[in-house]
Amino acid sequence: MKFDTEKDVRDFLRLCLDPGRGIKRTPAKLAGIMPGPLEEALMRFAPHLGALQAEADRQEAEARKARRAYTEALAAWITGEPADVPDLCPQNRRGDKAVSEGRFHKPDDDGVLRCVFCSTPAHWGGEPADAYRTPDGRVWTLAAEANEHGVPLYEAPFVGTRYTALALETLHGEITPVGGVPARPYVFNSRSVNWTAKHIPDGKGRTICPGNFQASKPMPEEEAARLTLCGGCRKALLASIEDAGPGCPGAAIDHDETGICAHA
Ligand SMILES: [Zn+2]
Ligand SMILES: [Zn+2]
Repeated sequence: MKFDTEKDVRDFLRLCLDPGRGIKRTPAKLAGIMPGPLEEALMRFAPHLGALQAEADRQEAEARKARRAYTEALAAWITGEPADVPDLCPQNRRGDKAVSEGRFHKPDDDGVLRCVFCSTPAHWGGEPADAYRTPDGRVWTLAAEANEHGVPLYEAPFVGTRYTALALETLHGEITPVGGVPARPYVFNSRSVNWTAKHIPDGKGRTICPGNFQASKPMPEEEAARLTLCGGCRKALLASIEDAGPGCPGAAIDHDETGICAHA
């Protein structure tokens, strides 16, 4: 079978749907059994289908993760034990698999202890917030209506269901009140053809890592939350914090962005 033209591929797919002898396939069934070479040809002529397929795979993986978090929290609740929620940062990702690593907290200009990678505060008062961020990068804002018990509900774009803050926390393991401080922007190396790692912009159009790459426009937070952070950028960011003066009694508290110690 040759798939040299868009017409070849379309004709063959049409045949797959209706091969005759009374057999009919649905597009869903066809999508599940499409052989590799045919799928490759299809994606070549219709790249938007590849993007949709990748997004569907990602959302399925996310749904499985959310389901697991829910059942684990349910099991923990039944036994009366606190749920084991590891304190991992959604933006501090490492390696080929983009594995979440720990948070790295530093006081911001207002003295609020925040993670330097995702801007999440280390502690918060527990008051209902106007908006929450979940680890997938989604921001949930206060909906117009509350539930039947008068508990506020939160909604996110393209999500059909509204949730209470408690339900969001149960589903996602953690929620972060959003407000005031914008999340750190992440960019790509705009010269790279292979956008698999994110970098931290230096604010002057380049990245902060030794590569000093030309920065792309900032990517959406949700996208950044899926990508591995460039090791050089991580090092440069953490070094800029540590450079602020080891041994100083106010270390990590009174250093501004320039690394100048207020106690010196
Ligand atoms: Zn973080
Ligand atoms: Zn970098």
